[in-house]
Amino acid sequence: MTGNAGKTPPPRLVKCPACGRDVPWLPQSRYRPFCSERCRNTDLGAWASGAYRIPQSGPSEDGEEWESKREG
Ligand SMILES: [Zn+2]
Repeated sequence: MTGNAGKTPPPRLVKCPACGRDVPWLPQSRYRPFCSERCRNTDLGAWASGAYRIPQSGPSEDGEEWESKREG
């Protein structure tokens, strides 16, 4: 038999905002409340793209060449 003297309570679990996994709220969970660095980056990327829309500058139309008038 093993005496459970001084058993530690289970860590608080938080849900990863990105994927919904249970993440233990511990100092070693450096990406909390995210479960991993990937989820953190994903969420940040989504937030940034949603909050700020980066206007995509299309190709500049600078190839218009007008022919000189023909004088007859
Ligand atoms: Zn996650």
